[in-house]
Amino acid sequence: MTIEKRVFLGVGHGGLDPGAVANGFKEKDVNLPIALVCQSELARHGVLTKISRSVDEYESPDDRIRECNEYAPDIAVDIHNNTGGGDGAEAYYSRFGGTGKVLAENILDEIQKIGQNSRGAKTKVNAQGADAYAFIRNTAAPAVIVECAFLDNKTDVQIVDTAAEREAMGIAIAKGMLRTLGIAYKEDAPAVKQPGTMYRVQVFAGSKRGAEEVLAKAKAAGFHDAFIKKG
Ligand SMILES: [Zn+2]
Repeated sequence: MTIEKRVFLGVGHGGLDPGAVANGFKEKDVNLPIALVCQSELARHGVLTKISRSVDEYESPDDRIRECNEYAPDIAVDIHNNTGGGDGAEAYYSRFGGTGKVLAENILDEIQKIGQNSRGAKTKVNAQGADAYAFIRNTAAPAVIVECAFLDNKTDVQIVDTAAEREAMGIAIAKGMLRTLGIAYKEDAPAVKQPGTMYRVQVFAGSKRGAEEVLAKAKAAGFHDAFIKKG
């Protein structure tokens, strides 16, 4: 029996909290599509996922941490974008290192493969010597905060300024997470069945040739469970 892996995805900011705002971008609106693609990629590989939000809504950082700890994931990632005039992606992990450090390094390695430069995997401690970020300090699971790009850098923001690039970023983060979980990335894993989506196509047709054409089109469109029903 395989034990399913569990992942918590935090989507930075939302609702009344826009996060970083620069160059016409609101961080909350950049973070969300990246995280949603990341979630669907993980789900496609059989990973159980919980995401902090799938729409534009606010959740307090404490609620997010509580939600994460209740879910008890194997790993947790909070997805953000940066400001401050830097250039490139960075990822923060706990000062205790371990899986969190590996996770941060794997995610940055995958992000570099889509053309973004890396500022490195980092730790940040507060005046008491504890991890400065609550999401890293107060989550029980190995947790990483990913900053994909600097929204206030006109060049750097170009890595996340289109839907296709946000999708690529989400896939890159998912690949880094999957690698950390020991799950091989599959380019062509079948789509995960989501509620409300029809995956079973029954083709009724008088002539066999017509039915097979419709079946081929259905399969090409992603209906993996398509078949010809006789009669
Ligand atoms: Zn943020």
